[in-house]
Amino acid sequence: MNESQRRAYAALGIGPVWRRRGSAGESGGAAGAAAVAEAKAPEAIDMADMDWPALRAAVADCHACRLCETRTRTVFGVGDEHASWMVVGEAPGAEEDRRGEPFVGSAGKLLDQMLAALGLSRDRDVFIANVLKCRPPQNRDPSPDEVQRCEPYLRRQIELLAPRVIVVAGRIAAQSLLRTEASIASLRGRVHAYRLGERAIPVVVTYHPAYLLRNPPDKARAWEDLCLARSVHAGAAG
Ligand code: URA
Repeated sequence: MNESQRRAYAALGIGPVWRRRGSAGESGGAAGAAAVAEAKAPEAIDMADMDWPALRAAVADCHACRLCETRTRTVFGVGDEHASWMVVGEAPGAEEDRRGEPFVGSAGKLLDQMLAALGLSRDRDVFIANVLKCRPPQNRDPSPDEVQRCEPYLRRQIELLAPRVIVVAGRIAAQSLLRTEASIASLRGRVHAYRLGERAIPVVVTYHPAYLLRNPPDKARAWEDLCLARSVHAGAAG
């Protein structure tokens, strides 16, 4: 664990909960952490052979970080497992945690409208997932450690789906997926790549729908992003 992760743990009032395979081990201290520490970190589980049902089951049973102690449900993702579009958000909120489905609150309604403007529906054309599969309490930002532990699930989802384009919603999702600290302003307007070995899946960054609800004038920019994603999907850009 690096210094910034250590500080993040301290700020959150929790101890490190994982013992990596082969390491001397660190204990979380809190009673609930013991069970968490005994489970395998997702990166220690070989996901290469997991199909959708196996991956779904692994997420439903995940105890890789302490969000498992406060979640109501895991939120795996929703949509067509053969879709050629993927949307990646940050993490479930309260409503998503209750229902087990991503983007079902007010931000989700706006996302559905944005997709509809492209002629897309969450039931048919798109697979929607989040960087984190569990809700951070009080909707706080995901910690770097939580992102790291959850990342193998999203990676396997992207591998299985192999979408033609990924639309990433919001700064935190974009920074996590692209492993950058760049601002959303600097990430928008161009096509990035999510690398899977030899393959590179095109990524377009846009504003988070919750941000757009607070800043409606930026919807025009979000529409530009979606048009860019549509060109990428059509093979005309990127
Ligand atoms: N915000 C997200 O990023 N994801 C959700 O699922 C809901 C709100």
